[in-house]
Amino acid sequence: MSLFENTLKQIRKASELMKLAGNIEEVLSHPERVIEVSIPILMDNGKLRIFQGFRVQHNSIRGPYKGGVRYHPKVDMDEVKALSTWMTMKCAVVDIPLGGAKGGIVVDPKELSARELEQLTREYTLAISPFIGPEMDIPAPDVYTNPQIMAWMMDEYSKIKGRNVPGVVTGKAVEIGGSLGRDSATSQGGVYVLEEYLKSIGKEAAGLTVVVQGFGNAGSHVARLLHDLGMKVIALSDSKSGLYCPDGLLPEKAITCKAEKGKVGECAPEGQKCEIITNEALLELECDILILSALENQLTEENAAKVQAKTILELANGPITPEADEILKGMGVDILPDILSNAGGVTVSYFELVQNQMNYYWSLEEVLAKLKPIMTRAWRTVKDNASKYDCTYREAAFITALKRLEAAIKMRRGE
Ligand code: GLU
Repeated sequence: MSLFENTLKQIRKASELMKLAGNIEEVLSHPERVIEVSIPILMDNGKLRIFQGFRVQHNSIRGPYKGGVRYHPKVDMDEVKALSTWMTMKCAVVDIPLGGAKGGIVVDPKELSARELEQLTREYTLAISPFIGPEMDIPAPDVYTNPQIMAWMMDEYSKIKGRNVPGVVTGKAVEIGGSLGRDSATSQGGVYVLEEYLKSIGKEAAGLTVVVQGFGNAGSHVARLLHDLGMKVIALSDSKSGLYCPDGLLPEKAITCKAEKGKVGECAPEGQKCEIITNEALLELECDILILSALENQLTEENAAKVQAKTILELANGPITPEADEILKGMGVDILPDILSNAGGVTVSYFELVQNQMNYYWSLEEVLAKLKPIMTRAWRTVKDNASKYDCTYREAAFITALKRLEAAIKMRRGE
């Protein structure tokens, strides 16, 4: 299954619904620049290992390329192309002046020593350095990359340039030019969208049951934020296993426990009846809201019909295949799509870039006061397009993005 092909299917579907004219769909079906690099690293055992790295710059019509870098053994060019395309769409949905890109290295970072990981990050940065920069392409964290990796990238790029260039990457620690609120921004943005959606269907947040797949940056923060809104988090999972506690979990405790024990499965609250379950079983639990915050292709034609949630919030990129989308649509499940729901991350990345370029920094209150209206406005536009075109929120989110991209392409190039 090609993830990029799935992305193109989504664009095609939206183009048909909105009757997108001209060559816009064709233009957006091809990344503007594709970079592949080989990175030789001298490993701790004295042997040389060559790592494969990518950076795909999908589209820059609305602004500099923007998107994360993923370190994962399953990274490949097809995946990076898909993820870069979603970044273009995402930035257009929330209407921030950035384009789309994505990077990746084929590696399991958990198998590397800190020295090897630093070396790999620095060499990757050097290899792509002619193509990145605050006005050109700004990487950020994604799956298995973090503020430390961003610090190494920023440091290496600054050395190459001979001056401090904090705006070359976002998702840095606040001590070196990161933005307050960036760590929880993806989840916070998703929560703002979910709250607006619940209002629109006349439901109270308090008391709703929530299942969260994935316990990385997005999963752990969203569990905490939804618990604070009075929702009941009944199941969590990481890449190893899931934990189902029908009476509810305390996300803060699970976060501390996961940091200590390394596995969510070992974090059952004492004296409570909980079950260790697989990630597959977790997706099929009865609940009000299922949050997908792990990886792509989690709900497919194989398991979509078994979903019992009424609403799905996508914080991961591409967790539902187009085939599963159709099945869930038929079942009446509302999907709050990735390019809208997880756009809070890149939005605060944009704020970070702006702060770096001004060298003037905002309080957390200021960051959140700017993030919330962007997310709620995007939700309203998507919702209006869903009514106007009588389509799903995903289709409407793509339509929203395509309209903005179309306007920019037409104005700049007359296409
Ligand atoms: N990797 C995140 C995403 O997929 C954030 C990208 C960014 O901040 O540039 O949206």
